Amino acid sequence: MARVTGQTQAGIVARMAPDWITPRPEGLYLPGIDAWVDPSRPQARAIITHGHADHARAGHGHVLATAETLAIMHQRFGPQPGGQALAYGERLALGDGLTCMLLPAGHVLGSAQVVLEKAGTRIIVSGDYKRRADPTCVAFEPLACDIFITEATFGLPVFRHPDTAGEATRLLAALAANSDRCVAVGAYALGKAQRVIAELRRAGHDAPIYLHGAMTALCALYEAHGVALGDLRPVGTLKGDALKGAIIIAPPSALRDVWSRRLPDPITAMASGWMRVRQRAVQSGIELPLVISDHADWDELTTTITELNPAEVWVTHGREEALLHWCELHQRRARALDMVGRDDEGD
Ligand SMILES: [Zn+2]
Ligand SMILES: [Zn+2]
Repeated sequence: MARVTGQTQAGIVARMAPDWITPRPEGLYLPGIDAWVDPSRPQARAIITHGHADHARAGHGHVLATAETLAIMHQRFGPQPGGQALAYGERLALGDGLTCMLLPAGHVLGSAQVVLEKAGTRIIVSGDYKRRADPTCVAFEPLACDIFITEATFGLPVFRHPDTAGEATRLLAALAANSDRCVAVGAYALGKAQRVIAELRRAGHDAPIYLHGAMTALCALYEAHGVALGDLRPVGTLKGDALKGAIIIAPPSALRDVWSRRLPDPITAMASGWMRVRQRAVQSGIELPLVISDHADWDELTTTITELNPAEVWVTHGREEALLHWCELHQRRARALDMVGRDDEGD
């Protein structure tokens, strides 16, 4: 591994600069094998961390990912040639002395950290991740590394997500107090919808939960991969009284359009880390903001960096300034990568 000298505010320090990984605006490039991690454009070889649209795109020649992520990509994009599944913890030689292993990222079903190793240097690309328990996916597995490449979607000290079970309890309390209404929960179709349903089941809600049509295929995919979601029914043509006292899960956009007029006086809820910002909830007309996030909050970001103890941190996207500053305060080298096409507004 080459070490070059770089000038920082703290003085001259060695900067790790392995020549086998090159951050580019459109993704992390591995020049020795002409492959990319989460590229924003179709490439001949891609390693994909998870199925969200800003990480997984259609049209790559060869895709390496978990079987669950490949299944999600298949469902979203139709048949994709050249998919290769790699199980968590399995090591694969990629050529040019480079090995790859996928570890759980705790973000959504199939989400993985990409562990890349060459010549004694280990780099981990986290994709998106969280540290708190999620009944719908395998928990984040920490591994020490030399360079940790992290997101910073909620990279500000103001973002501290509350206990998820407490948010599910608030939803059920609102439903119980309004038996002549329904609760319509806006949730991202991949990950968030299934997690909200699983948390409601954990909280003891075993009544049918109604789904907007955009949710059904991914919920079925989760169930096919062993994530039990209970009695789910399509909203279909139901309306008015038939939905009184029910919980309905729909994409956030559906709650604002004509579709929602069929619902009986809905309590409009939204499950998102952004609901921590009261103004956002008010602006979007959300009556019941639920702070349920699939991304690490400030404490999870900083404790993960401390735990993995990398010599250097690279930040892909989000609110990176505060995290870069925190790294500097804690004597850790850090840099922003300014990736394009990453968007976690949907959390
Ligand atoms: Zn994601
Ligand atoms: Zn993302």
